[in-house]
Amino acid sequence: MPNPSNTAPGSGFIDLHSHTNESDGTLTPFELIKLARQSGLDALAITDHDTLNGYEMARPEALRAGLDLVCGIELNTRMGDDRPHSRSVHLLAYFVSGPPSEAFRKWLEGERQERRMRNERLAARLQSQGIEITVEEVEARGRSLAGRPHFARILIEKGYAHSFEEAFRKFLGEDAPSFVPRQSRTAAEVIGIVRDTGGIPVIAHPVRLELDRAEERTLLHQYRDAGLLGLEIYHSEHPPALQAHYRQLAEELSLMPTGGSDFHGSIKPDIQLGTGMNGNVRVPAAFLQRLRAAV
Ligand code: AMP
Ligand code: FE
Ligand code: FE
Ligand code: ZN
Repeated sequence: MPNPSNTAPGSGFIDLHSHTNESDGTLTPFELIKLARQSGLDALAITDHDTLNGYEMARPEALRAGLDLVCGIELNTRMGDDRPHSRSVHLLAYFVSGPPSEAFRKWLEGERQERRMRNERLAARLQSQGIEITVEEVEARGRSLAGRPHFARILIEKGYAHSFEEAFRKFLGEDAPSFVPRQSRTAAEVIGIVRDTGGIPVIAHPVRLELDRAEERTLLHQYRDAGLLGLEIYHSEHPPALQAHYRQLAEELSLMPTGGSDFHGSIKPDIQLGTGMNGNVRVPAAFLQRLRAAV
């Protein structure tokens, strides 16, 4: 298992998926840049959920540390209108030739507003089950935004659940009775919105689509026709056999390969920046060069 602290700078490795405490990670943007440097990464993309604040706050330190920092974001979308359960699809967007437009930022503010409304409904639904939790309490935990991981921490602290896994299974996850879906747009729509502002849309952790091979191919084909440009090959939840599968699929569909650990800090202690879970993530710098060459 590669030890990140033994990797020399200029290693040729990068990480294109990470979170700060501006969304649901636990490290500050400053601390994340420090860790990326210590881990010997040549480049890092900050891909917080629904906010660019972490990226913007990290910029001065990245410049100082000589780290190639990429502006990114992770957006919540749904599969489409034609599926009974309209499952959630996480879409990464990379802005490799500069941060996105004012219009896109306004759109993001709307997304955050929708998230706040979901949080209110979720708190109300939990209260109706006799759970003592308020939306104010949850929002106080998030910096730029609060989400279900912040709900989970409070549920654990108050003894309603013993672990994140239990909090999601019993209260917050898609199969829990108190689950509240977000009013998200389809992945195809959001792919268009990202392309319009000059971003590179990429499907995050495709393993979580939970589709069989034929359905997966059909869906990705449809997204590619909608403007999708990349597929996340390396991810902490992708064992080597799946990485090989997604690499081949990306090639067949002419999607650019990307990869990252999806580092969140101490709330996901098994995931290391740059190297993922048990060293299963190693993203070559050439992946970023390809993204840059595409714009
Ligand atoms: P939200 O964006 O507020 O709906 O929260 C989504 C986040 O919750 C994801 O990015 C994950 O970090 C976390 N999450 C979702 N499902 C689970 C789960 N079953 N167990 C643990 N964490 C989860
Ligand atoms: Fe997250
Ligand atoms: Fe995700
Ligand atoms: Zn993520």
